Amino acid sequence: MISDKLQQAINDQITAELWSSNLYLSMSFYLKAKGLNGMAHWLKKQSEEENEHACEMADFLIKRGGIAKVDKIDVVPQGWGTVVELFEHIYKHECHVSKLIDNLVAIAAEEKDNATQDFLWGFVREQVEEEESAQEIVDKLHLAGDAGLLFLDEKLGQR
Ligand code: MG
Repeated sequence: MISDKLQQAINDQITAELWSSNLYLSMSFYLKAKGLNGMAHWLKKQSEEENEHACEMADFLIKRGGIAKVDKIDVVPQGWGTVVELFEHIYKHECHVSKLIDNLVAIAAEEKDNATQDFLWGFVREQVEEEESAQEIVDKLHLAGDAGLLFLDEKLGQR
C-alpha cells in the first residue's frame, strides 16, 4: 500500500507529464505550420511518450492500491521564436522534469517505500536520455545553419 503523501506526489507528476505532453504537441503544431514536418513528427512522438509516462505512473499507483487521478492541466505556452530557441526550451524543460523526478525519489525514500524508488529509477535513467537527446539536437542546430536545418528536419522525421 502506498502512503497518501507519495500518492499525491505521483499524481502531481502525472499532471506534469500530461502538461509536458501538451507542451510538445503544441510545439509540434508550431513547427508543422513552418513546414518542418520531420521535426513536427519528432515532437508528436515526444508528446506521445510523455502521455505514456503518465499512464505508466498511473498503472503503478493502481497496482500499489492507490488512486490515480487525471487532474486539471494548465495551458501551455504558444510560440517559441526560432527553431533553435524551441529546442533550447525543450532542453531546459527536460532539466526541470529531471528535478521533479529526483524530488519524487526523495519523497519515496523519506516514506521508506522501496518499491516506488525502484520504479522511479527507470524515470531517472529516462531523464538522462531526454536531456542528452535535446542537447544533441540543439548542438546540431547550432552547427547546421539554415541549409542543415532541412537535413536535420528529414532525419528527425525518421523517428
Ligand atoms: Mg516524461
